[in-house]
Amino acid sequence: MKFFLTILVVLLSFNLTAQDDAEMFKTIYKQSLTNGKSYEWLSHLSNNIGSRLSGSLGAERAVEYTKEELEKLGLDKVWLQPVMVPRWVRGAPEFAFIETAPGQTTQVNICALGGSVATPLGGLKANVIEVKGIDELKALGKSKVEGKIVFFNRPMQPDLIQTFESYGGCADQRYSGAYEAGKLGAAGVIVRSLNLRLDDLPHTGAMTYGDLPVSQRIPSAAISTNDAELLSSMLALDKNLKFYFKQQCQQLSDVQSYNVIGQITGSEFPDEYILVGGHLDSWDLGDGSHDDGAGVVQSMDVLRLLKESGIKPKRSIRVVLFMNEENGLRGALKYAEEAKRKGENHIFSLESDAGGFTPRGFQFDGSEAAFNKVLGWQSLFKPYLIHYFEKGGSGADVGPLKTATNVVAGLRPDSQRYFDHHHAANDTFEHVNKRELELGAATMTALVYLFDKYGIETISHTEKLKD
Ligand SMILES: [Zn+2]
Repeated sequence: MKFFLTILVVLLSFNLTAQDDAEMFKTIYKQSLTNGKSYEWLSHLSNNIGSRLSGSLGAERAVEYTKEELEKLGLDKVWLQPVMVPRWVRGAPEFAFIETAPGQTTQVNICALGGSVATPLGGLKANVIEVKGIDELKALGKSKVEGKIVFFNRPMQPDLIQTFESYGGCADQRYSGAYEAGKLGAAGVIVRSLNLRLDDLPHTGAMTYGDLPVSQRIPSAAISTNDAELLSSMLALDKNLKFYFKQQCQQLSDVQSYNVIGQITGSEFPDEYILVGGHLDSWDLGDGSHDDGAGVVQSMDVLRLLKESGIKPKRSIRVVLFMNEENGLRGALKYAEEAKRKGENHIFSLESDAGGFTPRGFQFDGSEAAFNKVLGWQSLFKPYLIHYFEKGGSGADVGPLKTATNVVAGLRPDSQRYFDHHHAANDTFEHVNKRELELGAATMTALVYLFDKYGIETISHTEKLKD
């Protein structure tokens, strides 16, 4: 009898806990959708400050603005963490054309890749060799490549439902194209924009010269998908056509910048940290609303929504707005280094850096046991149409915080339209939907609430039942 009573009490308390959590979810989502601040903050960040490339005035102003806004929330601590960041500047707008005969030219849309060197002052004109990737380039060898502009034209694979996989399948030509072509004596590199649709906008992004000596560093630029198609079809007709481009970008000396950090100190386990974050820097072409203004304002709102929902966290909740994710990851590396040095135990870190679109779920990097415990929470998210809980993957900025025992994760919004805007001039405020952004902030807050309440050792209700 006593045994059955115990079971009954356990079952009842389980149901009550689950009910409490469901009620708290309602409160959190309601707060975000009726009283959220993320959209207002994003408007200021995007429309009043604009693009925030590391080392730029915009980045500096974004640091000041987000620090001030966090200070208004009445958190326990708000501070700046200094970090040196690279400073690359685009200079005057790029210019490019295809030349089929002297004087017969067709202008095309390009933009320098981040970190690229400039062309000679008068621009660079050369024959073009088209390849579908780095392997094909290597197979051609020096004799076919030397003195030419290498045109990397492998499109993003359209039939992959996970567009980030499609991106990952092509990003090597953008990142390492100039390094590989430079080794073979090429004059320059043009890369098809990492965009799933056909349009006229070039998409920038990070690239590297690796260990190439300065003399072998060649200018590299992205070309719009429409113009990549055009160039490819014109090459099919005339292998001897010439491509001209001019860009005046420059790598300057590193400058001082900051990660912006705010904290609610935990009431029971202040030495266990739960982190939410996004990256404050952006590329310079649009205003970085999706990448990653959205993640920044959502993360800020997580701490505010916890407060507004009447939650007093047991563990310390930190928001970290990382600097320099796009072209160096210096902010994330600095934060992780400091956390390690201070022995701070980050039990759970969540990043939003996949756009401000409708949230679908999360990807988690942690032990099988921890992941199974998280799966026990899935039903709480069901009414909010959050169903995607996958193992593997998190975010660039939280990745360095991964240890053998903790969990790192990334919010996963619908990604079908993300690469229409990613790193391009149309990553702007009007392309972020207020409700979708707020649903993302609420979804992050709900997960943080659960991790705070249950920690990572005693995570699931079912686990409790077994005890
Ligand atoms: Zn990003």
